[in-house]
Amino acid sequence: MTHEQQCPICSFKGIMKNIAVVGNSNLFLCPACLVEFLLPQITLDETRKMYNEYYKDFEINNSQISNLKKQTFLQYIRCLKKYKSGGNILDIGTCSGFLLEVAMNEGFNVFGIELSEYAGKIAENKFGSDKIHTGTIQTANFEKTYFDLITICDVLEHVQNPVETLKLACKLLKKDGYIMVVTPDYRSIVSYVVRATRQKYKFEHLYYFNIKTIEIICELAGLKVIDRKAVRKTATVNYILAYLKGYGMVPLNYIFALLNLIPFIKRIDFEMPSGSVMYILKKV
Ligand SMILES: [Zn+2]
Repeated sequence: MTHEQQCPICSFKGIMKNIAVVGNSNLFLCPACLVEFLLPQITLDETRKMYNEYYKDFEINNSQISNLKKQTFLQYIRCLKKYKSGGNILDIGTCSGFLLEVAMNEGFNVFGIELSEYAGKIAENKFGSDKIHTGTIQTANFEKTYFDLITICDVLEHVQNPVETLKLACKLLKKDGYIMVVTPDYRSIVSYVVRATRQKYKFEHLYYFNIKTIEIICELAGLKVIDRKAVRKTATVNYILAYLKGYGMVPLNYIFALLNLIPFIKRIDFEMPSGSVMYILKKV
């Protein structure tokens, strides 16, 4: 099925292929920049409610998952230390502040923005209510050009307007500051494997980016990509199994479910290709 649409990223207007039905929405593919986008998008309120539940059930109250996340974030912070060894850091979409805990241990002055009231309250209790804004970057009131570093990890694909989000982040950034974006690259080999076996799409994923679309978004926001690399994430078999269940991916689920029966294997932490890319951005 095809429809006339305007691409929310590169503004191309024309016939676009509807590549999947996701609940009451359709996933369209822009032939110009190859971004895939969901229309209509779920509302901000629906996203907030979804994350309140998700964080309670899955991430925050599970010490194994929080430890794995902190190991991944330690890699990210070490990458950023090549650019800035200290200063003010803002984490957009900070959840309960896993990345900020790691950054604080590494000597940074930490701040965060979190949409979910449930996770935002926990972050406020850890770092202070003056350091955490529960809401969005649109409603945050941080001082302009205050931050040396801004991190946006696994968030950009969930925001309604990625260009506006990066423009606002750019305003908060010092002239010589850096933004780190981590987001899935849907043209990567890992993504092709996931896509080939997946049975459903997540309605909270509003965009499916690739390297080219991220470059277009950055250019529109007044930023340039100065470095990028494929991200490896720390995981266990158990964690991957819980993650894959969200996609209903039957063939891979069976493989990981079998591995999960072996006590020795299921407890090992390992680094694995994630299909995500880390982009380091600077003001133009
Ligand atoms: Zn486009």
